[in-house]
Amino acid sequence: MTPTLPAATGFLVSARQGVGRAPGPVFATLGAHESTAEALRTQTLDAVLVHSGSAEDAVARFGDTALVLAGELYNREELLTLLPSGSDVRTDAQLVRALLGVYDLHAFRLLNGRFAAAAALGNRVLLATDHAGSVPLYTLPAPGRVLAATEIKALVPSTADTPPAGRPVADAPRVRRVPGVHQVPAGTVLDLDVRTGTAVTSRTWAPPLSRRVMSEAEATAAVRTTLERAVRARTAGGTTPLVVLSGGIDSSGVAALAAAHTRGPLDTLSMGTDTADEFAEARVVAGHLGSAHREITVPTADLLGQLPYAVWASESVDPDIIEYLLPLTALYRALDGPPRRILTGYGADIPLAGMHREDRLPQLDTAVAYDMATFDGLNEMTPVLSGIQGHWSTHPYWDRDVLDLLVSLEAGLKRRYGRDKWVLREAMSALLPQETVNRPKLGVHEGSGTTSSFSLLLMDAGVPDADVHRAKSLVVREIFDRVVVEGLDPAVVSTTDAVDQVAARLKETE
Ligand code: ATP
Ligand code: MG
Repeated sequence: MTPTLPAATGFLVSARQGVGRAPGPVFATLGAHESTAEALRTQTLDAVLVHSGSAEDAVARFGDTALVLAGELYNREELLTLLPSGSDVRTDAQLVRALLGVYDLHAFRLLNGRFAAAAALGNRVLLATDHAGSVPLYTLPAPGRVLAATEIKALVPSTADTPPAGRPVADAPRVRRVPGVHQVPAGTVLDLDVRTGTAVTSRTWAPPLSRRVMSEAEATAAVRTTLERAVRARTAGGTTPLVVLSGGIDSSGVAALAAAHTRGPLDTLSMGTDTADEFAEARVVAGHLGSAHREITVPTADLLGQLPYAVWASESVDPDIIEYLLPLTALYRALDGPPRRILTGYGADIPLAGMHREDRLPQLDTAVAYDMATFDGLNEMTPVLSGIQGHWSTHPYWDRDVLDLLVSLEAGLKRRYGRDKWVLREAMSALLPQETVNRPKLGVHEGSGTTSSFSLLLMDAGVPDADVHRAKSLVVREIFDRVVVEGLDPAVVSTTDAVDQVAARLKETE
């Protein structure tokens, strides 16, 4: 049974040898806060969980091991077969804790999920991300105390609480302007010694480098079956899911598969602006699937005004990522009412090189290899984006099995007969109208006019055409420093002020 939300959607933990106080929690993710303290033999694990009613299910304790989990697993059934029958395992946190008892840190190599985890055992603290790092995780390790949280802002020292100087962590990138804080990479376990704050890094997943040869029929069947399983694992048994639907093949494919596994009509939701929308295309799919469909129109000025929320939620400083995430931020913020389980079509273009608009296969595979080697740390998949409105989002195309399959398909299956994402379109062709199956790709930043509106805002402030991309990067950093580093409420941070400051700074350095 999949509940609407996972037991916890975020956490701050403090693992300490001696006595002390856990720092006060600061999250963008909306939800109740629950504090727990687990006193182990040689250390104490304090945690603050962001939850929606069953915080105790996000903590598992057995003997000298305590674990907290934000997020959820998608291969529970197969994992359960690894434990002795009759094992007392009810929650995902208990399942991971039990697997730790059998496999130690290698347990994390077994999981297909969307999660971040922290475990204390003996003198060790394990910090783990899912294969895609889809729930960002950060740490501030120091001798005697290791802090970790699913949001950077929870680790920024308040004036009342000066943490000991942090220790460097090999292979974990530092966070901009927050001394001592590192991001745990995707598909990684950090094994820290709480006495010294030193870490040993183990990778638990890597993108496939090899490519598989399959017949057309074999490949389309594999894509259909694997994606179907991923959608089912994200919808089974719970309340009606909501699919954020553009009418592009990626989200339409997810909606079609979700509709097949939902009792009653599926909910779908589209956003547009006064500049651009994909409403007509999304309606075709909603009509075909018989979904309960809604449209939200956000005025362009409002959309750009929400830039601080996109940065606050994603804690990303990549201007391209922020442009993709901004329309979705606006969509989620406009989605009031009770917490929802949201499925997206996000991320299909990375393993399939959907943004690649030409026929040559070497270039296509170069794009896939590059994008799979550099996605980490961008926080493109973060659940905090919908979390700021109390919702939980999940991305079936970045399910571990789906991703492993899509990345590894030989390039000729991705681009075929002059069509991009051919194998996906073919796999979905029986479930969707032909005009949807054949619809050319349109990125969310394009379909909502976000890229052009943001460029226009900068040019209106006097930024020359050639400097626009650089200026976007500076604006995003400026906003990051306000809402993440200084901890200002995004409601009081103005996009136009940041744009004017950057424009003035660029003029000075001309
Ligand atoms: P395609 O890549 O072929 O255009 P797509 O539109 O489904 O397919 P993206 O453009 O990459 O995929 O957008 C990523 C995801 O963001 C979508 O799959 C969808 O879940 C969500 N999304 C994009 N645009 C909108 C929109 N206008 N309204 C609601 N959700 C959207
Ligand atoms: Mg699209």
